[in-house]
Amino acid sequence: MFQDKAKIYIKSGEGGRGVVSFRREKFVPMGGPDGGDGGQGASIILRVDDQLSTLQPFRYRQHFRAENGQPGRGQKMAGKNGEDLYIDVPPGTTAINDETDKILADMTEPGETKVLLRGGKGGLGNVHFKSSVHQAPRMAELGEPGVELWIRLELKVIADVGLVGFPNAGKSTLLAAASAARPKIADYPFTTLEPNLGVVEVGGRDGKTFVIADIPGLIEGASEGVGLGIEFLRHVERTRLLAHIVDGSGGLEGRDPLNDFDTIMNEVDSYSDELANKPRVVVINKLDIPEAQDNAPILRMELESRGEEVFEISGVTGQGVRELMEVISQRLMEIPKEDRTAEAGERVYTLESSDERSWEAERLSAHHFRVSGVNLEQRFHMTDFTLEEAAERFQRMLELWGISAKLEELGVKPGDVVHVADDELVWDQTALDAEDALANPQRRRRTRKQRLQARQGIDVGNGREA
Ligand code: GDP
Ligand code: MG
Repeated sequence: MFQDKAKIYIKSGEGGRGVVSFRREKFVPMGGPDGGDGGQGASIILRVDDQLSTLQPFRYRQHFRAENGQPGRGQKMAGKNGEDLYIDVPPGTTAINDETDKILADMTEPGETKVLLRGGKGGLGNVHFKSSVHQAPRMAELGEPGVELWIRLELKVIADVGLVGFPNAGKSTLLAAASAARPKIADYPFTTLEPNLGVVEVGGRDGKTFVIADIPGLIEGASEGVGLGIEFLRHVERTRLLAHIVDGSGGLEGRDPLNDFDTIMNEVDSYSDELANKPRVVVINKLDIPEAQDNAPILRMELESRGEEVFEISGVTGQGVRELMEVISQRLMEIPKEDRTAEAGERVYTLESSDERSWEAERLSAHHFRVSGVNLEQRFHMTDFTLEEAAERFQRMLELWGISAKLEELGVKPGDVVHVADDELVWDQTALDAEDALANPQRRRRTRKQRLQARQGIDVGNGREA
């Protein structure tokens, strides 16, 4: 078994912004608020496709960006939601956060889905901010930003097809000719102790892929544990289809190809009924050699009369190889993948939660502070600081959640910088008596305006250089 790996970038869609809009009617210069909500940003969702065997498709595509939600419109019209982006993976795929090494999902069941990154929430339009005392709110939320992440996908590959056959029948050569993998090729048996695996792509980029295993060293006595054959039969047991390679030329010793075939089939039969009854194709190889060309018709007739499906190829010239792989691909689609993921183990679901209401405040240096927290940052991102009322609402939240008090306890002074997410706020003098301000709406109203200013357009990096 080998590990197939891919590293991909994923980003969920940004929520659309809510809008500030007012009803327009004849003779009514400004009606009530009717600004609709922004659409939901699309999520990134992993999905198991049991027709996939490898992570090969990710060689062609590494970036996955889900759609943004559309902004809301007047007349209470909501923006369109982004359409969720599904990423198909083979069963047995594990997704890992590349930065933290945390396992995000273990994908096992066909059709199973797992939301990796939730799309950003759409912002609320001003229609939601109307109250009995506030008839014309100039307030709407921005959409929540999408989340980006590099993840690793890992898959323990179990071969779909096992190549069996006499030593030197041409198994390794065929594997090399059919796949991207390049196994060692040598003239003697037992060249490799591990089965060589090759990934075969049929039909180009958008086609199917499957995995073939070159099972070396299957010879007489293998089923009784003689030699190394028994190990390889174990590998072959988990595949879905056997391709039995017969050296049509009879080799240098001039063996009878049909005899070779029977020898191998005896091994297979005595190992297990299951293996003997596994779907299989028989491949007469080395058709570029005259002896093989002579033997092929008789061999084919005999094998077909026994109900075998027979192909003729040359692994060296490539003749017939593509056709063979296409038929194999077809067959595989008809054979279910039972229990391929038995080894995938316990399922772990640890999607980063966004319901987290906790926050933290810390002092970075004399005049720099940082507040962090999933929900806090979400609210921060969704606040349009160019709208006075929106900025005030954020300020109110800092007070209600006790964040202002905590910052004061840490020693925040007027003019100090408070970092939030990748942005910064300047602390204003009047923030120092937050409780007083809350108790006195008049005063709060006057001072809140000045307390909080977003310094737009200043890139502060991670905010820690101060
Ligand atoms: P394996 O033991 O079944 O893996 O056989 P290999 O792929 O190592 O091949 C054994 C020998 O047969 C090597 O010398 C290959 O070059 C040769 N061989 C394999 N396929 C063909 C073929 O289609 N035509 C000819 N002429 N030689 C082949
Ligand atoms: Mg070999």
